[in-house]
Amino acid sequence: MMRGAFGDVPLAALFPLLTPTDVDSLSQTAGTVDAARAGRTTADWEWVLEHAAFEGTRLGTPIILGLDVVEHAEGGDQLEFLLQVVRTGPGRLAVDAAVNVACWCATDHATHDVDAMRFVVGEQTSLPGAFRAGAERLTGWLADPHDADHWRAKAGLPPKRIS
Ligand SMILES: [Zn+2]
Repeated sequence: MMRGAFGDVPLAALFPLLTPTDVDSLSQTAGTVDAARAGRTTADWEWVLEHAAFEGTRLGTPIILGLDVVEHAEGGDQLEFLLQVVRTGPGRLAVDAAVNVACWCATDHATHDVDAMRFVVGEQTSLPGAFRAGAERLTGWLADPHDADHWRAKAGLPPKRIS
């Protein structure tokens, strides 16, 4: 796992089929995400070069490139916003955007996805197109109330317990 600013991401190595126009588009989209999270507890972009080269079948969806914006609140509460380019199969990519919250159920599930979207890259949607769609979703969420209970209520989950 490597971390850094989007400008440090080796896009040509991670996604060899991108055109220069595609690279410009991805960078522009990343700029909108960076702007939306500016001034917050920020996370860096993270990438895994080994997952880009992976072409076989393997369980799960390896993350090639992602951003994880975590907001910690007092009392162990947590709200997390994710944007990830994942490999869903040989030569197949998708962009996932998700919000998750710390779990306060009687049974501890650690975290819950309270909203999640997958944008599949294919003939109809380019990687820059899917990345832009995921980023728009993420920046929309970042503009919503930054209160994990707000998200738990929307998902029908129990609120944070006051101890
Ligand atoms: Zn739970």
